[in-house]
Amino acid sequence: MDRIGEIIESEIKGPSVFVDESKLYPEYVPEKLPHREEQIRQLSRLFKPLILQPGSTSVKALLAGPIGSGKTVTSIVFGTEFSRLAEVKGVKVKYVHINCSKSANPASIFREVKNQLGLSIPDRGLSATELINSILRMLNRDDIYVIVALDEFDYFLKSAKPDERYLVIRFYDVFESYVKRLSFIYIIRGTPAYISSLVDEMTGSYLMKNMVIFEPYKAKELYDILRDRVELAFYPGVVSDEVIEYISQLIGVDTGGDGNARKALAVLHAAGKLAEKEISEGKSARVTINHVRAVFMQEYPSLVNVLDTLYYLPLHELLIFKAIAVALLRSGEDYVPIGYVEKIYRELCDELREKPRGHTKVYTYVYDLKNRGLIMTKTSLKGRRGRSTYIGFGMVPLENLIEKLDKLIRERRLVR
Ligand code: ADP
Ligand code: MG
Repeated sequence: MDRIGEIIESEIKGPSVFVDESKLYPEYVPEKLPHREEQIRQLSRLFKPLILQPGSTSVKALLAGPIGSGKTVTSIVFGTEFSRLAEVKGVKVKYVHINCSKSANPASIFREVKNQLGLSIPDRGLSATELINSILRMLNRDDIYVIVALDEFDYFLKSAKPDERYLVIRFYDVFESYVKRLSFIYIIRGTPAYISSLVDEMTGSYLMKNMVIFEPYKAKELYDILRDRVELAFYPGVVSDEVIEYISQLIGVDTGGDGNARKALAVLHAAGKLAEKEISEGKSARVTINHVRAVFMQEYPSLVNVLDTLYYLPLHELLIFKAIAVALLRSGEDYVPIGYVEKIYRELCDELREKPRGHTKVYTYVYDLKNRGLIMTKTSLKGRRGRSTYIGFGMVPLENLIEKLDKLIRERRLVR
């Protein structure tokens, strides 16, 4: 039925690149979570007692990692699926998800718990303690267990008073009870070292006991995440594997990016929007690497930083950088072989009557540019034999960049 609705709607809207744009929204919760199986496994092990011996313990888990590493979505998917399984096994477990940037004290946190559980407790005039006691009574009455996920918990840690922290983190030391109805997932952005700087003696060891770590995503991992989303959100054939690979390389933590899946999805989405805009100009409905570059430039104006960096590079490294830009522009490819870059570099040197640097030096400069995050490299393209190095770009427009480079090169030669 949904599909039919989509067809009718797409005909009414006119040609589009998107089947269902909402699958790219940050709040969309996907069914599959590639590369978070290990985190789900750890959470399952920690929360197992809720199903095997309900009420015996109050589980506490801490999810830690940088922005866009999938903490929120993993918690939601785990919580939802765990409750479903518990129900099958005859235990009532409910999952509630609370954002502490909006609810940063115990009273507002537990008001949210109450609301999301749909408990009819009038909260006006109740202190946090009274509210919590009412909630616990109702959970006992209805025999319900609750996993409370406290997202963006760093907000709470920064703003809460010591006794409020104590209450939320050492809950059953305050609300002593034989049957433990509440368990917690604390979600904090940052590394373990940073997190331990936020906590105190009374709560730190409690919070950090069961830590589930989320690393920033590698390019290959982002590729899998994006591919799933492309299938759901775009018409077939609109987004090629090369485009997905390109975005993954821009953002992968192992290829010079910050490994943020949210950013990767946002770039994909915005590139799709650009492609869609061009349909009205008579272009075919395809997302290209140029769209991705344009988006990346707009959204993440790294060109400014790039130019700052370039300012300090030696002349011949600048020339090689220019050679890469020229090679990409001339070939119209997204990646060019290093041999081709070297050839153009020699041409540029000829024009300027500069003595070209040797082969080894060229490679050294290329790797320096890569380390500075100015270019991307990969070894041997799919379908070709032999391991040779290919070079691509993190930003564009190339013409614009070449213009700036020419200016810098001129200046650099003048001051010598
Ligand atoms: P965090 O909470 O760590 O900042 P999120 O959970 O909000 O990160 O993830 C950012 C975006 O990336 C969300 O849109 C989310 O759906 C998506 N995402 C993150 N990890 C995955 C994954 N493993 N599979 C599919 N989508 C993911
Ligand atoms: Mg989050």
